[in-house]
Amino acid sequence: MATFFSPFQIQLGLGAIPLQVGEACDRPARSLTTDSRQIQPGDIFLALRGDRFDGHDFVAQALADGAIAAIVDRDYQPPSDLAAGHLLQVDNTLWAYQEVARLWRQRCSLPLIGITGSVGKTTTKELIAAMLAVRGPVLKTEANYNNEIGVPKTVLQIDPDHHWAAVLEMGMRGRGQIAELARIAQPNIAVITNVGTAHIGLLGSEQAIAEAKCELLAQLSGTGLAILNADNHRLIATAQRLNLPRCRTYGLQNGDLQGQLIDLETLVVEGQRFRLPLPGAHNALNFLAGLAIAQELGLDWEAFRDLSVTLPQGRARRIELSPDIVLLDETYNAGLESMLAALQLLADTPGQRRIAVLGTMKELGDFSETYHRQVGEKAAALGLDRLLIYADPTEAAAMQAGASAIATQIFTNAEDLLSELRQSVQTGDRLLFKASRSVALDRILADFVAVY
Ligand code: ATP
Ligand code: MG
Repeated sequence: MATFFSPFQIQLGLGAIPLQVGEACDRPARSLTTDSRQIQPGDIFLALRGDRFDGHDFVAQALADGAIAAIVDRDYQPPSDLAAGHLLQVDNTLWAYQEVARLWRQRCSLPLIGITGSVGKTTTKELIAAMLAVRGPVLKTEANYNNEIGVPKTVLQIDPDHHWAAVLEMGMRGRGQIAELARIAQPNIAVITNVGTAHIGLLGSEQAIAEAKCELLAQLSGTGLAILNADNHRLIATAQRLNLPRCRTYGLQNGDLQGQLIDLETLVVEGQRFRLPLPGAHNALNFLAGLAIAQELGLDWEAFRDLSVTLPQGRARRIELSPDIVLLDETYNAGLESMLAALQLLADTPGQRRIAVLGTMKELGDFSETYHRQVGEKAAALGLDRLLIYADPTEAAAMQAGASAIATQIFTNAEDLLSELRQSVQTGDRLLFKASRSVALDRILADFVAVY
């Protein structure tokens, strides 16, 4: 690891008050962590207050375990027998965490790619990281750590002596949050995958979502590059108002970089043919974003003709049961756009019967019924053979009403759904499982696979 800040440098950077001066306060720390269980000698411990845990309860232990410093807030009362170490007091330790990350990022002059969008952030992050890894070690956001804690956590893991680039996912649930994350991570390249309806219940309108996503672009420096999905008109229209220094667009219908989808897994771009590591039009778009970045960073596309990528749980996972039954595991999450994309993928997957097993899309507020109806309509328009609905009553009724042209059935408990699947699934079937995380459709899928 490159030389990290000393406790004293952090004290100055934060304007923190030293409550206790440690012997090693001017020695570079090993790293900074908020998890007392991971403390190693030479670390700095920062105490965060969370819903379930309060890091301040572990300060004494962290110092006893070899931390050379701890960062605490004003409400912390040090015990009289506190172990030696530099103890710094700030007003708000979450702010301090983010500020140390911001200062660290300023020290590390590697290309940093920030990704936001209503859907496809994690997928695009994984694709880009896999592409950039052909040149050398890349730091990427672990799992889905894309918020006000996850972004600083990832930034603090940058080792400029080791990583040549970093790829960070940035999520939001309200206005101003992306601007804040971008201020910490200072991306040189900003990707917006799309603007849709995720969290519309909190933001009010698609335009408000577009503006919130575009906060990422407003933070770009003069040499920074925006990479945008040109097939998303609202995104392009909103971004155009910003007078971007540099911008490249991609798409299947529009864009500087335009791909032609030959089949579910084959994409042609500028005369080059790629086998897509993840199937479907939506993943072709995510892949194109990666190609645009590779181009900017001078990587030869040749290396990506046969790229493979493994996504975290519940996204684009294909499970093959014998004899000849395919399950598409999309149980990680669901919103309107990702439901529509996944239904299209199901419809395009060769097989005998196509069955969608869909649950509630959460956090849609006043739009909930409309969007559930639209999902039902899409299932019917695609001519799916069956739609099994495992959703809250209002949403289930709306979805069923939309899909009235095809066979539908509503389930109110997991056992009934499971027993229906066991009885009716047959050779040649293709099934899509998708719902919001909290529906826990992944458990039903796992039970079905286990007993099949
Ligand atoms: P979150 O907000 O939960 O972090 P995310 O933006 O990271 O979500 P992913 O986890 O990459 O999104 O993908 C979630 C689902 O969205 C996928 O399982 C897939 O169904 C769908 N999806 C992925 N990329 C796209 C895309 N470009 N357009 C539409 N749907 C997509
Ligand atoms: Mg994500």
